[in-house]
Amino acid sequence: MDSYNFALIKPVSGSCCLHCRYCFYRDETVNRKVSSYGTMSEETLKRAVMYTAGNAVHGSTFLFQGGEPLLAGISFYQHYNELCQDIAALRPDFTISSCVQTSAYLLKKDMVRVLKEGHFLVGVSLDGPEKLHDLNRTTVNGRGSFKQVFSNTELLRAQAIPVNILCVVTKDNARAQELWRFFMDNGFDYLQFIKGLAPIGSDQELISSEHFADFFLEIFDLWFSEFTKGHYVSVRMIDDLFAALSGRGISSCDLRGQCSVQNVIEADGSIYPCDFYVLDEWKLGSVCDSPVTVSSSIARSFTKKLSLPRACLDCNALAVCKNGCRRYRGSNNLSAYCQTFRRLLSSKKEQITYVLKHCL
Ligand code: SF4
Ligand code: SF4
Repeated sequence: MDSYNFALIKPVSGSCCLHCRYCFYRDETVNRKVSSYGTMSEETLKRAVMYTAGNAVHGSTFLFQGGEPLLAGISFYQHYNELCQDIAALRPDFTISSCVQTSAYLLKKDMVRVLKEGHFLVGVSLDGPEKLHDLNRTTVNGRGSFKQVFSNTELLRAQAIPVNILCVVTKDNARAQELWRFFMDNGFDYLQFIKGLAPIGSDQELISSEHFADFFLEIFDLWFSEFTKGHYVSVRMIDDLFAALSGRGISSCDLRGQCSVQNVIEADGSIYPCDFYVLDEWKLGSVCDSPVTVSSSIARSFTKKLSLPRACLDCNALAVCKNGCRRYRGSNNLSAYCQTFRRLLSSKKEQITYVLKHCL
């Protein structure tokens, strides 16, 4: 039994109202026998929540993700809130954290009310200002989604619901100054920049590792400038960098040096180890009939520590990067963020020392 645990729930499998050009989950769904497991039933949701909470002593975090998880509808999330209330009544000291990662395209006031009632943290996928966001995040008809996404995000902020921005970076929108200005001007203080992921089995990068490193080093300078003005902006990779350098816990699993089972629960209740591996060969069990044992051969094979490439062994960034996520490794077996971390640690030494001294 874990002290705290985590489950990533896919309420509508890979179904989505948008057709973002780089969607990694759509790519996964076409690489398995059943591409869509439909919509999760209330009974399966109950089993998923009870299975997860039943395996933790102090608390569970539930993240709803898709496709577009809000397609599951209001009654699905009302039911989830009721399940959380039932657990709270039985286990008053047990903490449940609820998060949803959404395009916000379909968000309406009544859904916002339900998310508020459930104390949700909402991650909104937003790739910057309209002309950059709309390059990749399009509707099924190829139209831009920005206007609707942005105004719906305001519905969340009007209710003081915490909003984190997830910005996928490709060579199209890797304009650090423009993105940063947009997010700062609009008061977004919780940001995550992730490198667009090439489809399974393809080496066609959406942005090269060098280009992403150039982009992120500029972001770092912009972040540092805010920091010196006393304004702390949370940028996930920068938070993780300082967490690693100061010996605190790192939130991202890709910087732990070893995969762990993340309990991804598909709409039919089947369980997989990680969002990047919701593929037939990695199915671990099901919340409906055969829950996971971490000692199963598939789980053991997934969490097995992989040996490091030679280049990592005498690398200045090893303590932070640890060769990154296995899904983000290139043909040289190095992390796609290799150059980002190496260059941050070699060329931003002064700023890093300053931050470590003044704040952490
Ligand atoms: S494959 Fe990547 S994201 Fe998945 S558990 Fe491993 S490090 Fe984490
Ligand atoms: S920065 Fe590159 S060489 Fe260093 S640990 Fe990461 S992947 Fe390995």
